[in-house]
Amino acid sequence: MAAQIIDGKKIADEVRAEIKQEVAELKGQGIEPGLAVVLVGEDPASQVYVNNKHKACGEAGIYSEVHRLPGDTPQDELLSLIDRLNSDKKIHGILVQLPLPKHIAEKAVVNAISPIKDVDGFGPANVGNLVIGDDCFYPCTPHGIMVMLDKIGVDLKGQRAVVVGRSNIVGKPVAMMLLQRHATVTMCHTKTRDLAWECRQGDVLVVAAGRPRVITGEMIKEGAVVIDVGVNRLENGKLCGDVDFESASQVAAWITPVPGGVGPMTITMLLKNTLEAAKRQ
Ligand code: NAP
Repeated sequence: MAAQIIDGKKIADEVRAEIKQEVAELKGQGIEPGLAVVLVGEDPASQVYVNNKHKACGEAGIYSEVHRLPGDTPQDELLSLIDRLNSDKKIHGILVQLPLPKHIAEKAVVNAISPIKDVDGFGPANVGNLVIGDDCFYPCTPHGIMVMLDKIGVDLKGQRAVVVGRSNIVGKPVAMMLLQRHATVTMCHTKTRDLAWECRQGDVLVVAAGRPRVITGEMIKEGAVVIDVGVNRLENGKLCGDVDFESASQVAAWITPVPGGVGPMTITMLLKNTLEAAKRQ
């Protein structure tokens, strides 16, 4: 039986409409949520991401400003800007677009963002709070995945969840969030002995490996929910996920497409975190 498609675009539109409504209500109380996005250098992909974030803020009624710095900006200068944004009353969220040029220590920059404005959720305070289960900003992509699972009505309690990939921005935080929701979680990576066997245990399978079609239908449990985070550009210019959609969709009950699955949720959750930051501040 062919899997049902989890339509990320549709879910993202629904969540954005709710955010827009809440932003309007907050503005009615005299608070305008504000996001500062910092881009260092000319990386074309980063420029597209930053423009999309700026545009999405505008559509949701969120104030946003983009700070475009030259690629040779000294680290101290970037840290001074973050310092100013940390104390800027109209800014509730700060996002530094990664990756940064090589001469800048990413860790120093991420650590400099005030935890109450760290809407990407990458700083040590937010990561620590996520692990101990305290209030925090969930990183946007994992947060979007959890919203998708909720929207299709998955009750994670007691389910076996398998996560392929252990990056700090996707694999680890999503595993932690699944665990918080009482799933039994397995994390896989390049040293996992039998990836196919591990994946086949998953009632929920989240794949964030950055390897085109590394997960095929025979590695998936019948009736599983498959979330494909991967975005890979093929030689023909087309995008594909980390999951082989054709074979996987014959086995899974639910599956996200690429594009149109997890992707649209990421910026949506950035808007949500910015709104949340404004409410908290
Ligand atoms: P990453 O930092 O490169 O991490 C990839 C992880 O996958 C690593 O932990 C790696 O294991 C593991 N891995 C790689 N090949 C594997 C294999 N053959 N078998 C098992 N594990 C394997 O990647 P990331 O930043 O998490 O991103 C992952 C993918 O998601 C990329 O395609 C990225 O573009 C996409 N992404 C999409 C969004 C979105 O909004 N849609 C957001 C973020 C990322 P080791 O640790 O052992 O090396």
